[in-house]
Amino acid sequence: MTRLNDNYLKLKAGYLFPEIAKRVKEFSKTNPEAKLIRLGIGDVTRPLAPAVIKAFHDGIDDLAKAETFHGYGPEQGYDWLINTIIEKAYLPLGVSLKTNEIFISDGSKCDSANILDIFDTSNKVAICDPVYPVYNDTNVMVGRSGEADEKGYYAGIVYMPCTEENHFTPAFPEQKVDLIYLCYPNNPTGTVATREQLKAWVDYATKNKAIILFDAAYEAFISEPGIPHSIYEIEGAKSCAIEFRSFSKTAGFTGVRCGLTVVPEELMAMTAGGEELSLNKLWNRRQGTKFNGVSYPVQKAAAAVYSDEGWAQVMETISYYMENAKVIKEGLANAGITCYGGVNAPYIWLKTPGGIGSWDFFNKLINECHVVGTPGSGFGPSGEGYFRLSAFGSQQNVAEAVNRIQKKWGK
Ligand SMILES: *Cc1c(COP(=O)(O)O)cnc(C)c1O
Repeated sequence: MTRLNDNYLKLKAGYLFPEIAKRVKEFSKTNPEAKLIRLGIGDVTRPLAPAVIKAFHDGIDDLAKAETFHGYGPEQGYDWLINTIIEKAYLPLGVSLKTNEIFISDGSKCDSANILDIFDTSNKVAICDPVYPVYNDTNVMVGRSGEADEKGYYAGIVYMPCTEENHFTPAFPEQKVDLIYLCYPNNPTGTVATREQLKAWVDYATKNKAIILFDAAYEAFISEPGIPHSIYEIEGAKSCAIEFRSFSKTAGFTGVRCGLTVVPEELMAMTAGGEELSLNKLWNRRQGTKFNGVSYPVQKAAAAVYSDEGWAQVMETISYYMENAKVIKEGLANAGITCYGGVNAPYIWLKTPGGIGSWDFFNKLINECHVVGTPGSGFGPSGEGYFRLSAFGSQQNVAEAVNRIQKKWGK
């Protein structure tokens, strides 16, 4: 009989968001009149920017006429979008990239998963804990791990705890690793890496001949000056890092789908025979074979994000979310709850009051405040005792949620 991929069976059945959905459903069934406020799942809620919508429509109109029709585009994305990104998103940071070093895609969830195609399964992987679950689960799926233990750690994967004690900055792995996942600004903790901290990682990767997979999905939310928006702001990073970016949170593209991956030409890895080869060529080959490009109107819409008008509108929406973050953070602090993040990222990572378990706090919050959030333990064992609230709601709902929490926990 045909064999299935047994690695999938190692994955924990009760995935975080379905479990939350189940509990929310149960609550709503027994409390039909309660007005629930959802600050759980990390999805945007504000509409696309008008300049983006205009370009999106224009892109579709182009497809309606023979003279401007577009069929298959380049698998790597159109040069006009890539060059706009180079000029508007990277050059202002002092980072120069070549057109062939950026690959447009349908989002960075897929890219951060698909990138594993170009790496041997024998590589050791280091992952933060808590973490965006995609990095961990995709490594389990390709067979890079053994079974999970009762805490949720998979054999063979190196976990780097990020807790209050180390200011959510992981220590370097104690053993030799080949691939290191970093996400800054961080989901779920909402914290950032300073230039010095990122430089230490680049130096570490260079010295240990490891590669950093850097997820910058939330770079547009950085509000403090001096915090790097790209790992390539650090000298030497082009030889040791791949960067993922996304239009999802930056410009509300979660339902539109567009992202990009940077694979610099300098970035090398070793063949079985010990020869060093450029990974750029491999990723190009991978995309050329397994991907047929992002739709033309979507790329038109993405390019409009970088027009003067588009960028101003996108930034206005980000400010709206970040105002929410401030209201949540200050409101919770006033209620005596310790929180992190919320300054350079749309997430507030709070310590559960009284040190109760993450799921106990979830139950308390939904039952007593009618507010839904995400238990920190769902992002990894070191997230136990923490809880994530998202700033992607409406101002009104956020204010109401904070009010209810203050009534319950405030003095
Ligand atoms: C939301 C998010 C992304 C974006 O994923 P897309 O597939 O581009 O929508 C990437 N990384 C992290 C950590 C995220 O939270």
